[in-house]
Amino acid sequence: MANLLHAPRGTLDVTPDQVYKWQYVEQTARRTAATFGFEEIRFPTFEYTELFSRGVGDTTDVVQKEMYTFEDRGGRSITLRPEGTASTVRALLQNGLAGGPLPLKLFYLISCFRGERPQAGRLREFHQFGAELFGAAGAAADVELIELAGAALKALGVKDLRLELNSIGCPTCRKDYHAALKAYFKARETELCDDCKNRLERNPMRLLDCKVPTCKAIAKDAPVVTDYLCDDCKAHFEDVKARLTDAGQTFVLNPRIVRGLDYYTRTVFEFVDEAQGLTVCGGGRYDGLVSELGGPSLPGLGFGMGLERLLILMESQGCAFPPAPKGLVYIGAIGGPASQKAAALARTLRAAGIAAGTDLAGRSVKAQMKYADKQGFAYAVMLGDAELENGEAALKALRGDGARTVPLEPETFLAAVRDAAAQSTIKEG
Ligand code: ATP
Ligand code: MG
Repeated sequence: MANLLHAPRGTLDVTPDQVYKWQYVEQTARRTAATFGFEEIRFPTFEYTELFSRGVGDTTDVVQKEMYTFEDRGGRSITLRPEGTASTVRALLQNGLAGGPLPLKLFYLISCFRGERPQAGRLREFHQFGAELFGAAGAAADVELIELAGAALKALGVKDLRLELNSIGCPTCRKDYHAALKAYFKARETELCDDCKNRLERNPMRLLDCKVPTCKAIAKDAPVVTDYLCDDCKAHFEDVKARLTDAGQTFVLNPRIVRGLDYYTRTVFEFVDEAQGLTVCGGGRYDGLVSELGGPSLPGLGFGMGLERLLILMESQGCAFPPAPKGLVYIGAIGGPASQKAAALARTLRAAGIAAGTDLAGRSVKAQMKYADKQGFAYAVMLGDAELENGEAALKALRGDGARTVPLEPETFLAAVRDAAAQSTIKEG
């Protein structure tokens, strides 16, 4: 029973007084994605485990240490998605989307699950705005994708982000780089953590992403990938940089970015908050992933933007949120007939799309008015026997002064409420 009132570590509730911020971020992401021609895709919260071990890479921390994996009742291994790219590729292959018009531009708003040590901006269930673009090999696509991430961040008013950029090449040029890395780390093998000793043969680039301090220190002086790019990868990278400059997007080169997922090729990037060092968005190109998962040879690229981290930044930078939507009219009542009249009037307003509330608890006038005020209603009207008899009541503005007499016949009541709302700055909820 001890944990009955505690959500599992690393998860967050979003209470009604905060949820409008999430809705604003999600709406802004959706709207920005639409202006870039990205369409929403939805896919399941869990997949067969192999999708992620193959897609994300079984030498990554995500797969080796962070996945929520369990057997279902049929004895199959299931994993809660740690990210969205592998699922997107699976869904596009299963639904034949690669056979449709290309490039295919998709986005999603999803929860992700990783069993990490919780801390500020690091949760076990977190949320991402993600975008994926398939069927475009040229640098124009890399830049459009980065511009989408930048435009969403800008629309939300997030400032002082640094775009860090790197190219990690393709399997061809990576052969030499892997050899150089192996030679470098081999010389200091005894100092490496057990995971890294293991990774050394299988995937030496993973050592650059190890979080163990001794490994990090050794990795600091390791050979950098950009010294090993083949001519094609170099040309692609130059094109990306030139187009970013043309787009007015500043960036800094960071040859140490390798990203935590195995599928990346060529361009990788991160948007990093300068003040807190928080990476809010990460992504890159993954030209080998679709074929790795059994599909055709189809270039792809994408990013994931962490919404919890985004909200942390927006709060700390004092970014503006639109006001939380509130009810327009509270229709209080004392006594049974008045309560029924209030319900009827609320029904009329709601049918017209106006947010209205009534008393459901049989409370005093004072308690009802207090409730209306706390709930943030713009107006309140109180019905009793006298009002019913006269066929009119006083509509009071709860923010600021002002009252007007309104008729209680439903259609004229609706018209009077609309008129009052139109004359004030308060908009219909
Ligand atoms: P990090 O290096 O910070 O662990 P990552 O390389 O694991 O990030 P990605 O897998 O690329 O991150 O995910 C993209 C984005 O999702 C990150 O930039 C971050 O904003 C967010 N994110 C990743 N893991 C978490 C987490 N555990 N909690 C909250 N947000 C996360
Ligand atoms: Mg991580």
